[in-house]
Amino acid sequence: MDKNFSLGEFQALVDEVLIRHKSILDILSKVQESSARVNRAVAKASTSCGCIKICAEKPEVPDDITFSKLKSHMSDHVEGELCTTCEEKIKQEISTNLFYLFALCNTFDFDTEKMTEDYYKQLKLLGKYGLL
Ligand SMILES: [Zn+2]
Repeated sequence: MDKNFSLGEFQALVDEVLIRHKSILDILSKVQESSARVNRAVAKASTSCGCIKICAEKPEVPDDITFSKLKSHMSDHVEGELCTTCEEKIKQEISTNLFYLFALCNTFDFDTEKMTEDYYKQLKLLGKYGLL
C-alpha cells in the first residue's frame, strides 16, 4: 500500500468514476445492495464453502460484571479461518460497499477525511462508551 494513499484520494476517484449511478436513488440502493452482498459473502463462507462456522449463542455474563470486563465474555461467534477465496470475496464486497458509501458522501460534499478524523477523536475521547 502506498504510504501516501488517503481517504481523500479514494473519495476523489469515486467521484471521477461514478457516472451511471450518480442519482441519490441509485447510490442509496447500491449502498443497501452492496451491504447485503457483504452479508451474503460471509454467510456463503459458512454455508457453501465451510471454511468458517458461525456458532451464535447467548453469552453467559455474570449479573455483577463491570462494563470494562464485559468484553472478555463477548464472542464474534466465528470459528475457523476464512480460506483465501472467501477472504478475497468478502474484501471485494466490502470495498464495493465503501465505494457507494463514499459516493453518498460525495453527493452531499462530505469530507471523508474530516469525518473519519472527527469520529476517531470521538472514539478516543469516549472510548468504549462512545458506541453505546
Ligand atoms: Zn472459504
